[in-house]
Formats: sequence, structure tokens, C-alpha cells
Amino acid sequence: MSERPILAVDVDGVISLFGFEGPLEQVPGRFHLIDGIAHCIAHGVGERLQTLAAHYELVWATGWEERANDHLPALLGIPELPVLTFGGRARFGTAHWKLDALERYAGPRPLAWIDDSLDDTCYAWAKRRPAPTMLVKARSDEGLTDEHVKTLLDWAEMLREPAPEDG
Ligand SMILES: [Mg+2]
Repeated sequence: MSERPILAVDVDGVISLFGFEGPLEQVPGRFHLIDGIAHCIAHGVGERLQTLAAHYELVWATGWEERANDHLPALLGIPELPVLTFGGRARFGTAHWKLDALERYAGPRPLAWIDDSLDDTCYAWAKRRPAPTMLVKARSDEGLTDEHVKTLLDWAEMLREPAPEDG
């Protein structure tokens, strides 16, 4: 009963930023070379995930699949996480191909999901889900912010509160 809700975490646009503009000294993260590609890992995102991990069971929901555990835990200061896989359906810039795997993984449990590519299909799915479901849309040039963390902590807190009695 006191089981933590699941938090599904996207990588591109949530942890690894893109699409930002402006001078180099204002880049919103730090570049790390991962498998030969420079990724801008958002400032403070490791600490934010650590905070969330105390209240949620984190799972990677990213086209990176298993690769997410290769470098990110060390960079972010978090343990390796369970990984959703998508059978080759991953498409950059969209997210609806994650729904089947999310559904299978979460089953009847409460689920929050942060992603920069949520679309109408995702919101419609969340609305249909019988279990509590919270979608948080990130901006790909900002990633996971303090505001998102607050929203997610408030939601987890709300789930812990006993439901009001009928009558
Ligand atoms: Mg993304």
C-alpha cells in the first residue's frame, strides 16, 4: 500500500538537452561525450532525479533503451534503473510508441511520466488509464526543472493521502 508510484523518465529533451540558443557560456548544461556523441546534460538534473527517486520508483522510458544505464547513472549520481524497450519502434521527436511498454510495465500502479514529446495520443491514453496517471511535458531546451520536481512531489504526496470517506 505504501508502494511508491512509478516515474518514467525520458532522456533526450529531459536530461540531455537540445534546441537551445544563445552564446556558449549560457548553454543550459555541460557537454559529455557519450558513445562518440556530445550530449548537453542539464545542470542540476542529477540532483533533481535523486530527489524524485526518494518518492518514486524510476524507470527509463527512452529510445536509448539499455544504453541509458551505460553512462547516465554515473553522470547523474543515481543507480542503474529498469529499462523499457520498444522493439525497434523508437522515433525521435514523438512518444506514442512508448505507451504499450509503459502500460505493460506499470500495470495497475500509479504512474508519472516526464517527456518532451508528449502528444494528444499520450494525453488520451493517460485519461483512459484506470490508475492515477500524471504526464509532465518538458521543454527540450530546459529538461527537468525544479518546477517539474515540485509538481511531481506534490502529486506523489497527494497519492499518499487517504481518500476522503464517502457520505
Ligand atoms: Mg525526448
